[in-house]
Amino acid sequence: MQKYKKLEKIGEGTCWTLFKVKNRKTQEILALKWVRLDDDAEDVPSSALWEFCLLKELKHKNVIRLHDILHSNEKLTLVFEFCDQDLKKYFDRCSGALDPEIIKSFLLQLLKGLGFCHSHNVVHRDLKPQNLLMNRNGKIKLADFGQARAFGIPIRCYVLFGAKLYSTLGNAGWPLFPDNDLLGMPTKEQWPSTTKLPDYKPYPMYPDTTSLVNIMPKLNNLLICNPVQRISALEALQQPYFSNFCPL
Ligand code: AMP
Repeated sequence: MQKYKKLEKIGEGTCWTLFKVKNRKTQEILALKWVRLDDDAEDVPSSALWEFCLLKELKHKNVIRLHDILHSNEKLTLVFEFCDQDLKKYFDRCSGALDPEIIKSFLLQLLKGLGFCHSHNVVHRDLKPQNLLMNRNGKIKLADFGQARAFGIPIRCYVLFGAKLYSTLGNAGWPLFPDNDLLGMPTKEQWPSTTKLPDYKPYPMYPDTTSLVNIMPKLNNLLICNPVQRISALEALQQPYFSNFCPL
């Protein structure tokens, strides 16, 4: 811990605290996450272990970089590259007025980071603006891999209705739009085998309250419930929407 000078607290959750710190030797500004461990040394929060195991392997410009891991009996400390803000705060500040080129740049970077994770058999499962960090140059980084899973390893199934076909875009997608049922319930026509899925429950048929074409006119194939029909992050990057686009 001597390596880092604490500058300020930047976040806190039930079992973690996040600080902005400076590496005393390199002067680099970093984000240090303390995860409190219970007295029982084996009781390391599984989400923290996942985050650390997965991130150690994931090195990409659009995935938050894990620099250091320190472990003691009482806490686990993860040292990340520092980002200036998350997209939730950025969106709140813009009050919905976003330049289409900025949206395209964010989406492109998100898909690049996601495509990279998926090609390394990792699904994030908790994509939301708070978990997308942004630095001063407009670079987007996928963060908080606490809910992520490595597919290919036998694990408990967390997907929609228990569908084991773990497709790699937005599959934890619930909640992709947290407070409303924008997508509605998938109909028999949209996802014929839903009723055969192990955790299927006959929920009320919430209607699709908005047209996907309005939300993502160029890339609405990313938001299809049925994983078989939904395009992947890497396929999305090939869509005409991104052609000739140079990100920031
Ligand atoms: P997390 O537990 O990773 O979801 O982090 C919670 C919040 O802390 C995020 O929404 C960010 O606002 C902030 N945060 C997380 N990681 C960083 C980081 N590396 N740099 C700056 N802020 C961060």
